[in-house]
Amino acid sequence: MTNIPYKIYLSEKELPKHWYNLKAVMKELPPPMLHPGTLKPCTKEDLTPLFCEKLAEQELNTEDKYIEIPEGLMSFYRMIRPSPLIRAYNLEKALGTPAEIYYKFEGTNTSGSHKLNSAAAQVYYAKEEGITTLTTETGAGQWGTALAMACSYYGIDLLVYMVKISSEQKPYRKAVIETYGGKVIPSPSDTTEVGRKILAENPETGGSLGCAISEAIETAMKTENCRYVLGSVLDHVLLHQTIIGMETKTACDKYGIEPDIMIGCVGGGSNFGGLIAPFIGDRIEGKNNIQFIGVEPASCPSLTRGRYAYDFGDTGKTSPLLKMYTLGSGFIPSPNHAGGLRYHGMSPILSKLYHDGYFEARSVEQTKVFEAAVKFARCEGILPAPESSHALKVAVDEAIKCRESGEKKTIIFGLSGTGYFDLTAYMSYNDGSMTDYIPTDEDLEKGFATLPKVD
Ligand SMILES: *Cc1c(COP(=O)(O)O)cnc(C)c1O
Repeated sequence: MTNIPYKIYLSEKELPKHWYNLKAVMKELPPPMLHPGTLKPCTKEDLTPLFCEKLAEQELNTEDKYIEIPEGLMSFYRMIRPSPLIRAYNLEKALGTPAEIYYKFEGTNTSGSHKLNSAAAQVYYAKEEGITTLTTETGAGQWGTALAMACSYYGIDLLVYMVKISSEQKPYRKAVIETYGGKVIPSPSDTTEVGRKILAENPETGGSLGCAISEAIETAMKTENCRYVLGSVLDHVLLHQTIIGMETKTACDKYGIEPDIMIGCVGGGSNFGGLIAPFIGDRIEGKNNIQFIGVEPASCPSLTRGRYAYDFGDTGKTSPLLKMYTLGSGFIPSPNHAGGLRYHGMSPILSKLYHDGYFEARSVEQTKVFEAAVKFARCEGILPAPESSHALKVAVDEAIKCRESGEKKTIIFGLSGTGYFDLTAYMSYNDGSMTDYIPTDEDLEKGFATLPKVD
């Protein structure tokens, strides 16, 4: 076997040329997305007023296991990829574990997370189809930043509806988006009917993600050559993120690394789904026996405590209905929770795989997550994003189990991004003011009560 380098970087030639379409491999498909008016499965024609044509096709593709990454997009990917697969030697030593720990680090680009993989793809297709403006919403800001970078590269105008309170609390995120030429509109705003209505009712509101989504959708629908883009949950977003897993698979095959456990954090499911796709595909085909673990915050436990039901993707209840693990679109996540992973629902592909027992889910509390994050930062030098640190926390737990049992397992986890824009959260952990919040069953019932009666 070849010596394994500390950091595994694939060469430009080894970069994957295809995404991996899990739906072509799954034994049973996820139930289809439903039109909110007719409750019939969405057709491509239903999706194209809102989404680009190619993305709508990808969303509905259940046939092609490999989908080619177009050359015009490869030129962007070559700029930001490959991302390294790193052996966490120092962390292993600090934990005194016989386990081998690797992490796939998606934070090496300026936007600081994996979101750029799908942002670039979506903007590329929009450009090909003659779209001139894109709209989106952003809460924590990673998606807006990634999209602004991609839009500046391909020459498309970008309007980002940023939850007002976030735009005030995260001025640096706003500055990056604007540096790349994106326009940030604090939401609710007076640029849309929804926004004006909400402002009239509640002029002091700090806004919400649900409201920002509704504003972005309204603007996309009424602006010529404009489309709306989304950064997680949907099948085509997960598809683009499989570049992470394809690279990881190539690196593992090249160096004879055989993971026993693969771990990722789950918000809407795109980085975890993207990392494990080719591996869980092999598992479905009976070629491995890897244990897959998705990690979510205890404060927003869609998989571990949610229901598998049809639900809306947005609080405004305007999106198509998705069959997914959900806390209900009316679920209000705890405001004290740091960073992302606050979404009420979950990727329909991952939801189906979870329902069928292909992977397990765990929930963790944020103070424990930050404890692991700080340990990792001190050992490995990288300041991890709070979201990614959920995966890291469970990787550490598993490595400690190996120390106790003496098993020499190989663990790979997804380090989806860096934490430079989350320093307020680190500050509250460092000064001891960070608290945990676990919703009660009663809290969750309030969210479930907002589920539409479909199935
Ligand atoms: C957005 C984000 C996530 C959560 O989104 P997924 O779609 O579940 O991957 C995780 N990590 C980072 C760094 C993010 O920016």
